[in-house]
Amino acid sequence: MILNFIDGQYREGSAGRRFDDVNPVDGSLISRVSEASKGDVDDAVRAARDALAGPWGSMTLAQRCDLLYAVAAEIDRRAEDFIAAEVADTGKPWSLASHLDIPRGAANFRVFADVVRNVPTETFTSHAPDGKPALNYALRRPKGVVAVVCPWNLPLLLMTWKVGPALACGNTVVVKPSEETPATAALLGEVMNKVGVPKGVYNVVHGFGPDSAGEFLTTHPGIDAITFTGETRTGAAIIRASAEGIKPVSMELGGKNPAIVFEDADLDVTIAGLTRSVFENTGQVCLGTERVYVQRPVYDAVVQKLAEAAGQLKPGRPQDKAANFGPLISAEHQGKVLSYYKLAMEEGGTAVCGGGIPEMPGDLKSGAWIEPTVWTGLAHGSRVASEEIFGPCCVVIPFDTEAEALRMANDTPYGLAASVYTRDIDRAHRFAAALKVGIAWVNTWFLRDLRTPFGGSGSSGIGREGGVHSLEFYTELSNVCIKFNGGVQ
Ligand code: NAD
Repeated sequence: MILNFIDGQYREGSAGRRFDDVNPVDGSLISRVSEASKGDVDDAVRAARDALAGPWGSMTLAQRCDLLYAVAAEIDRRAEDFIAAEVADTGKPWSLASHLDIPRGAANFRVFADVVRNVPTETFTSHAPDGKPALNYALRRPKGVVAVVCPWNLPLLLMTWKVGPALACGNTVVVKPSEETPATAALLGEVMNKVGVPKGVYNVVHGFGPDSAGEFLTTHPGIDAITFTGETRTGAAIIRASAEGIKPVSMELGGKNPAIVFEDADLDVTIAGLTRSVFENTGQVCLGTERVYVQRPVYDAVVQKLAEAAGQLKPGRPQDKAANFGPLISAEHQGKVLSYYKLAMEEGGTAVCGGGIPEMPGDLKSGAWIEPTVWTGLAHGSRVASEEIFGPCCVVIPFDTEAEALRMANDTPYGLAASVYTRDIDRAHRFAAALKVGIAWVNTWFLRDLRTPFGGSGSSGIGREGGVHSLEFYTELSNVCIKFNGGVQ
């Protein structure tokens, strides 16, 4: 059974409630998960508060960073365990988890240890009305207990993207992993204990959102900040619920990200980029592309090559080396994605490839499989071209002018990411600057330097994390002003 991790100990939820952790590859039961009660969440928040006042709070920056390096090294050492847990929960290919999810989980601890070690202190000198000088300098204090609420698409990667900087800044955390993917958050507790992170610094409570661990945690008076990654509607619910306590929030939410392909683009680079951005992780990446705008002279070629690339994807078990395409996270999500596949037909679209559920052998028939799908013939304003689907699919729409492409790309309440394919360097700069997104890639996709700002605008979120920007959220700044009243003796 997967247990809660509170105050350095694995614990069953006090209400005795459990739920299923299901493998989306074949619908089989991986494990039962112990749901945290309101009392368990109270205990986790109390443990996190006590840890702030305990050895964690009195550690030097260097000691804290050394521990974070040790966490990263232990994740690396136990990489196979983490990969196995992640692929069982998500069904994603073993190769993807071993190249992306788990190494990035370790990197999130190293990078933020480096960031906090190297951040300079802001200072200003000024003069008081009597002409005497004053020195101002800024101090960073941890916010306190941070609630970390996570989605299921990149479970360890996205959780440690929050936990790494939070701990590096001296906070303690209570994590609520997605109910779909509880395993790697639980496993990380073993790592924390092994390397000697004091008890109560890292806590995990399992459960759902409303009327469960998610809501109990985000409305808890004992937390000092909430960092959330997930759907825009959930983010709005958490902001509403947290308003009473005036809690700072960081919100990484949904997207309906465009890719824009100009006629001068290198089509090999373009198709390689689009194949990843539309289909990787079965399209379940917040930064993924679901709208592709293509300049008319290369439209047919892009549609054809993208459909061919989709045809090369091979669904199969994560451990199958010949397979490179996993299932969706759950039967429920499969139902949502399929409803958009149906809607695409109703809205007048043509599925150039895919459009349904693939024929799978044996027990894989019970998995949440879906076909990679490319549509043409859908209008820019159609629902399929406007709403986040979070599946391996995209709408391809032609354009004539740069202005037209920009108008369509920006015509969305979201503002997370975009990718632009062109060989014209002037256009690349001009177009990237005009896109209303948190991240614009040119001739690539999902190339992330963890020191850079990350986040979205509009319905895609509030705030930026990454590098020093994470410090803005995970620390409280105080200014100290010292007046020099004496003269030279
Ligand atoms: P979700 O919003 O359904 O759930 C996210 C987490 O919130 C889960 O742990 C869930 O239990 C919890 N939750 C749900 N309701 C809650 C409530 N009322 N109070 C407190 N907690 C609650 O999201 P998901 O389906 O797990 O993830 C997919 C979504 O995440 C997509 O919309 C995707 O775009 C988004 N996402 C965004 C980013 C980003 O960086 N912007 C990254 C990854 C995923």
